[in-house]
Amino acid sequence: MSFWHKDLFHYTVAIFCAFIASLFMGHFLYFLLAICITIIIRQTYLLKQLEHWLSAGAKANNPTHDGLWEEIYYHIFRIKKANKKRKKQLSTIIEQFRKSTAALPDAVVVLGEYDEISWFNEAAKKILGLQKSDKGQRIPNLIRTPAFVDFLIKKDSNAVLSINSPINKNITLQIKVVNYGKNAHLLVAHDVTYLKNIERMRKDFVDNISHELRTPLTVLKGYLETLTDMDDQHSALLTHSLEQMQNQTFRMQHLVDDLLLLANLETQKISRDCVTIKPLLKQICSESSALEALNNRIELFIDSDLNILGNDQELRSAFSNLVVNALKYSPEESIVTVQWHQLDENLILEVTDQGEGIPEQEISKVTERFYRINVKRKQQKSGTGLGLSIVKHVLARHDAKLVITSELGKGSCFQCIFPKHRFC
Ligand code: ADP
Repeated sequence: MSFWHKDLFHYTVAIFCAFIASLFMGHFLYFLLAICITIIIRQTYLLKQLEHWLSAGAKANNPTHDGLWEEIYYHIFRIKKANKKRKKQLSTIIEQFRKSTAALPDAVVVLGEYDEISWFNEAAKKILGLQKSDKGQRIPNLIRTPAFVDFLIKKDSNAVLSINSPINKNITLQIKVVNYGKNAHLLVAHDVTYLKNIERMRKDFVDNISHELRTPLTVLKGYLETLTDMDDQHSALLTHSLEQMQNQTFRMQHLVDDLLLLANLETQKISRDCVTIKPLLKQICSESSALEALNNRIELFIDSDLNILGNDQELRSAFSNLVVNALKYSPEESIVTVQWHQLDENLILEVTDQGEGIPEQEISKVTERFYRINVKRKQQKSGTGLGLSIVKHVLARHDAKLVITSELGKGSCFQCIFPKHRFC
């Protein structure tokens, strides 16, 4: 018999007894009223006991009862036990999470809506210099580097900021802010000093080796020129060999020059002079045409008198790389257009050719160092694979970007897009 049926049975028996008694004494309704009052008093008492048990924390030793009340006590106790177990599991997970983030080599800081520090791990103490007493303080008040403050205002989850550690200038940090939940942010600072040192060593190595190669190359070139002058053309093999040696030395010299230029772009500070574009482009076009044996294939259009704040030499090198490429990778009789114009908020240099084009999947790769599109050996033009990499670096230093559009067999268009704050 269920608890509910048991209780129902007791009430039915009581009413039945009252009915029997009323057969002898009458007043059935009085008997019924007496039963109802007894039930109400009993239930109120039991409710009071339940309230007392709950306020005492609903411990295991519940006042034992029969019937429905026993069932109610049992269910409450079971739910409470399950909640307690879940709470324990959750706190174990939180504890494990805290321990693992505390042990992370990266600094992790939990920030609130106004960039106030809610929590941070051990590494944040070591590399960001945070202390226990900093909890609740706004992080831009503690790390005042302007770039960091700007970065925090933007809170772009895709952006990464490189700064020196506020407590040790020899430590380089890469900082990321991840937004999560409602107005909550996670700041992660990764120590990249080791990578930075390797990168510096690589740059130094390339810089040094290029410098060291320059002198022997100049000597070689000089002797080769003398030998070519002395060549009386009696031996075809000798003449051919000298020609090949000269070509290769020229190529090596070009490579070394490009490597040195790239190294300088990576290390030197950029100047901000007003570079007048019109004479610059005119000169580049006439010099590039002079390299070509055939007629002038370049059409130059200067549609804007605005100029660019930056470095004359760097822009010259980037623009001439684009023009030379357009001539090099297009048929001898085709036209190359060079156009300087303004479009909305930008100034654009556009170099368009009607050449072989670049396969779509290769467009993003052609600006990588030493990347050259694989073509049949016979058609391979001489080059270093560094030209577009130089263009990309120069443009980045001028806050500009390179946009390449190309169609195989139809031609390519290289656009250098300069932002408004670079106009002069
Ligand atoms: P290089 O010209 O010395 O090989 P670049 O870095 O200037 O090196 O160019 C990389 C590659 O991009 C080239 O090898 C060439 O295959 C391709 N490329 C560059 N400019 C053009 C162009 N205007 N048309 C077609 N392909 C081009």
